[in-house]
This record gives sequence, C-alpha cells and structure tokens, in this order.
Amino acid sequence: MTPAHAATCIARTSTLTLLLTCICLSCASTTEGQHAQQHAEHAPDSIAADTPDTLTLLFVGDFMQHSPQYQSAHVADNTYDYTEVFQFVRPEIRRHDLAIGNLETTLNGPPYSGYPRFCTPDAYLNGIIDAGFDLLTTANNHCADRGKSGLERTIYLMDSLRVMHVGTYADSTTREADYPLIINQNNIRIALLNFTYGTNGIPVRSPNIVNMIDTVQISRDIHKAKQSAPDCIIALPHWGTEYKSLPGKQQQELARWLFRQGVDHIIGSHPHVPQPIVVQTDSLARKHLVAYSLGNYISNQSDPNTYCGIMLSLRLVKSRQATELDSCAYALTFVSRPPVGRRKSYRIYSINTPDSLLNEAEKRLRDNAAQSVRTLYGKHNIGISEYLF
Ligand SMILES: [Zn+2]
Repeated sequence: MTPAHAATCIARTSTLTLLLTCICLSCASTTEGQHAQQHAEHAPDSIAADTPDTLTLLFVGDFMQHSPQYQSAHVADNTYDYTEVFQFVRPEIRRHDLAIGNLETTLNGPPYSGYPRFCTPDAYLNGIIDAGFDLLTTANNHCADRGKSGLERTIYLMDSLRVMHVGTYADSTTREADYPLIINQNNIRIALLNFTYGTNGIPVRSPNIVNMIDTVQISRDIHKAKQSAPDCIIALPHWGTEYKSLPGKQQQELARWLFRQGVDHIIGSHPHVPQPIVVQTDSLARKHLVAYSLGNYISNQSDPNTYCGIMLSLRLVKSRQATELDSCAYALTFVSRPPVGRRKSYRIYSINTPDSLLNEAEKRLRDNAAQSVRTLYGKHNIGISEYLF
C-alpha cells in the first residue's frame, strides 16, 4: 500500500469492518491474455509486486447514452469522441485487473437515438474500452431497443474489439459455448452470470437470446458454472425499481436465493441510483457481498442521485484452502456537464475532486452527491467502507 493510498482511505469503522480495513487494490503480478496485459502496463510500479494469486475487480453501474451525450461527443462529420468523459477516472479504472460495467444501449449504426430506444455511435464502445473496461454486461431492458440487428451488431462490435461480454447471445449455440462466462486470470477462475427482469416489452427475436430472471434457468446455469470448478461465482442481475434508493422485496428475495444456490457475490444494476451494499460473513468465515445497485456511471440524468455513481472494488485472494473476498471498498463519482466552448461536455469525476478543478455548479453537484449518497450508505451499508481516489 502506498502512503497516498493509506492517506486517502476513509476508516469508517464498524463492528463488521475489522476485516475490511483500508483497501489497497493492486494489480497482480501474473497475468494472462490481452486485457490483462493492458492493465499490467498501466499498473503503478509501487504496487505491481504482489502475491501471485490475487485478482482485483472493479464494477461500475450503467453506461447510459441519452441523445445529448452523443451530440456532445460529435466532433466532426460521422466522428464521435468520448475521451473526455473518462479522463479523470481512467487511471483508477486501469489500476484494476478487470473492470466491468453495464452497457445499457445498442450499437446498431446510424441513425442514432436516445431514450426510449437507445442506439449509440460505435465510438462509445471505443471510449469505454480505452478507459480500461474489459467486460460489459448486456442483459438489460434496453438490449433489444433496435431489435435483432441491434442486439447482434452490438455483440459483433464487442467481439471485434475483443472486449468480453455476458448476457445476450445471437443464438443458443453461442450461449451454450460462452455462458456462464468463465474468466481465468492470475490463477483465479471466476464465473459470471448476468440476467435481466425484462426488455421493456420488446420481444427478443429468435434465435437471439437475452438472459432473463428465470430461477429455473439460472439454477441450471449456476450448476453448469460449478462444473468449471470456479473459485468464485458472481451474479450481475439487472433488477429493481428505477429511482428507488432501497432494494425492494423481490431483489432481497432473489439475492437470498442466489446465495443459497452457491453464488458468492451479487452486483446489481438498473435503478439509476445507488442502492446499499451489504457484506456478510457465513459460518465458514467467508464474506459475501451484495451491491443492489451501483447507479448510473454515465448518463444525462440530473434528478437526485441519478448523477452519482459507485465504483466498487473487490480484491480476491486465493490460498490453498479457498478463494476469499480479501477486501472490498467503494468510491463515489458524479457526472458533470460543464460547458466547453459552445457545447456541454460530459465528465465523470471522483467525489474527491478538488475545488480548483471544478466550477461553482460542479462543486454544488459534488457536495450534493457526497451528502446524499453518504447519508444513504451510512444508514444502510454493512461491512464495507468508502475509499477516495
Ligand atoms: Zn435498465
């Protein structure tokens, strides 16, 4: 842990945080594959040396793309650039071995559209990948917004740019081959599941498949995941009620059911606002995390908490006995839209951004986000602390 890291961790102790003291999330020294290589290149030297069987994961919420966002990214004829959206969070994303978010739009080429049926310039995907994201979830209520061609072209683009994805499939053959998604990295094998409550009433055209919240099917998929002998199973449900800051009964029941089925951790998306994170310890002293919603990572929404995002960091450590959630912590972000020339730009900022980098409106956004989410999380989170970057 670097002194800077130690200094920026917030030690909000509680009875359950003994095992969750200040976090230093480092990249492991052994890596496999292209994505891992990208991260190794960007890992800070001071924390590169680590135990070999350690895996750091970063989860963020929804990558939304309302029409003002792609209008803002339009830099020339048919050219879009999203670099500035991620410029202040990029180092934090790339510090992790694996970074994962929810792609809540389709990439079906022009004409583009915002809500209610999203279709986004391909450059958005380039921007997300350049920021350091390795894996996108796609089983969400907007994946069928542009029908069969939108669903398939989105998959095709992700494959062509070699970003991993989970949740939607062109047909049963590719689903059978690729789902549950098994990732081997740093000698740790994780299985990922992703499913959604629905597709906004838009039918999914055969032979496309969107993973749905169907406990019979999910149970089968978990069984299949276990046959790969994963060190850790993580479920990524797209669930809950929009704009509710607390999880509903159905989310809580499904979370309990998933844990009973053998899922180790649950990280949810969809409500567009952060919902609580709870870490509990089982009778074998293993920790299990449920983050009900990480909120919007980037959007054009401005209602309370919709411009606040959660970056959730997990560190898995594998010993001879088991793979444990060694530590976890979250950082707060907010989206600001400062004017740049004659247009407004979109930027994701850390909640820890100093006054000197912000205008007056942005300072108010930052302070409102901090106050609101910290109040919610102070009341309802269990076993996890905030960190600053
Ligand atoms: Zn959604």
